[in-house]
Parts: sequence; C-alpha cells; structure tokens
Amino acid sequence: MIIREIIESAETNLLCEYACHSQFSKGRHTEEEACPVRTIFQVDRDRILHSKAFRRLKYKTQVFLAPEGDHYRTRLTHTLEVSQVARTMARALRLNEDLTEAIALGHDLGHTPFGHAGERVLNEILPDGFHHVNQSLRVVELLEKDGKGLNLSREVRDGILRHSKGRGALLGRSRKDLPATLEGQLVRLSDVIAYVNHDLDDAIRGGLINKNDVPSVLRSALGDDSSQRLNTMITDLIETTLAADYATVQLSVPVAEQVTRLRDWLHVNVYQSAAVEEDFRKASRVLRELFEYFVAKPQEMVTYGCRCEEDDCIEILIADFLASMTDRYAMNLYQKLFFPQPWKST
Ligand code: MG
Repeated sequence: MIIREIIESAETNLLCEYACHSQFSKGRHTEEEACPVRTIFQVDRDRILHSKAFRRLKYKTQVFLAPEGDHYRTRLTHTLEVSQVARTMARALRLNEDLTEAIALGHDLGHTPFGHAGERVLNEILPDGFHHVNQSLRVVELLEKDGKGLNLSREVRDGILRHSKGRGALLGRSRKDLPATLEGQLVRLSDVIAYVNHDLDDAIRGGLINKNDVPSVLRSALGDDSSQRLNTMITDLIETTLAADYATVQLSVPVAEQVTRLRDWLHVNVYQSAAVEEDFRKASRVLRELFEYFVAKPQEMVTYGCRCEEDDCIEILIADFLASMTDRYAMNLYQKLFFPQPWKST
C-alpha cells in the first residue's frame, strides 16, 4: 500500500461513520492523478495555504482598518482562529480534520480590503451584486494560479460556498442552505464562534467598549472572558451534535440564542459604532473612486497584472482586482493615482 492509502484506511478506524472519508470524496472538477503521500483534502489544504490569496489575508481588515497595533486580528489571524476552533471540534467529533482545515483556511479568500465596507461598496456598484462567499469560490476556481484556479475537491468548494450565515439565524436553517458535509457545517459555526470572541476582544483592546459594557446576561450565560466563552461554545457544540447523533452540526438552542444576541450586540456597539463607521466611509470612498478610475481607463489594469480582454465584462474584472487588494495596496494605489507625486531628482 502507498502512504496515501494507509492514511485513507486509518481514517476508516479513526473517523465516525458520518464523517467525510477522503477515499469517498466526489473528486475534483478536472480529474488529476492522486498524490501518493497525501489524501485529496490534505492536498487541498496545502494548495490553499500556498496560494497568493491566502498570503494577502495578512493585510486585510477584520474589523479595524489597517491596524497599527500588533495584537489586533487581521483576516489572516481570523482565518487561523476559525481553523483551530474547527479542528478542535472535528477531532472531538471524529470528523475529517483535514477537510475541516481546508474549508476553514479557504473560507474568506474572497474578502475585499477594508472588511465589510469593501464588500458593501462592490455590492452596490456591480449590477449582479457582490458577496465575499461567491468571490472566495471564484478565487479558488478561477483566479488563483493566473486563471487556472486550484482545482479543489467538490467538498471543499461546497464548504467555502455555504459557510456564510449573514445576520440570519444560526439554527433552523433548511438543509439545502447548509454545507453538504458535517465538516462544512462545522466551519460555518466555527466562523461565528471565532469572530464574536475575537472581535469583542479587539473592541475592548481598542477602547471602543469596556469589558463591563457586555450585558450581564451574556456574561453569565457564556462566560466572562474570551477563553471561557470559547470553552462554553465549543463544549456545547460537541455535546449537542453528539446528542443529536450527527443529524447536523449544531449548538443547543439556549447557547445559539446567546451567541446570536452577542453577535447582534456587537453589530450595534462595534461594527456600526461611529468610530468604525467613520473609517469605513473613508475606505468606501477609496474603493469607489478606484472603481471609477478603472472604468474610465480599463487598459491601465494590465499594468497591474490584471487581465483585460475585450470580451470580458469590465466591471467584473475591476471587481476581481479591487477585491484582491489588501488594505495597504488599495491605499497606496489611491495615493499614487490621486495624489500629486513629488518630483524625483535625477
Ligand atoms: Mg470568516
């Protein structure tokens, strides 16, 4: 037996019967020869980790714009926290940890610069709207590797596409809205578990709110600090999913209600706070003006390594370019295009 087959057969003993076993993957869009050493999901995880889009997450906003403080989350550290939360639960539930990790590392690859402000602007400008979820899929299917895409497995692409909850209910979604695999469902909830905790932590760090501003009902139900809250949510998810015999990956109703309340509280007190909104307004203007600039001069995008062919929809190409930018890239480009540049001496 080759190494991959040994790993695949070890999964048979290690994983529960409801897990997505690597050897039964529905495969890739374009068939390829299997890796002799790694399972299909290990390969997918590595492809995502080595992609350029993944490295750009380092300089994309989570909540605070291009933060100078070293301890604030960025889109990259958010992604890593989602991945770790999800992997912990995957192992406890005997689900496929490699598949879980691949989905988690890929889930936010399509995020714009300036967080949801960037997403909102592109959504307003584009005739068919814009959502980071669809863009994440576009990155892995089309944009990475100079237009060749990463040719990921169907399970990883499904998990990426269906990870978002918007502001809707955490529970009670119809089955068709949920990822097809339990691993995908796990990442979907790990995303919210990670961000309500780290965004709250960063908001306190940034002086936007005080620890004691968090309603006492939430503190007593979920815990008083990040570590306690993570523990409450993770333990609850594992126990509830086991008790439901893996019908879906789920939180208990009381904990899901408190997580939803915490998320809604963060929306009012952090995401929509005057300080965050003020920065978002400025960031929106940057992206909007860049968009208009390239609509007027589409050929200039070639200078920046973008495709610009006659039969392509120019708005979509510009959106791909803008969405790919990091916060600092967008701000530098804006400065270069719109600010007078000092003459350089010869
Ligand atoms: Mg996320």
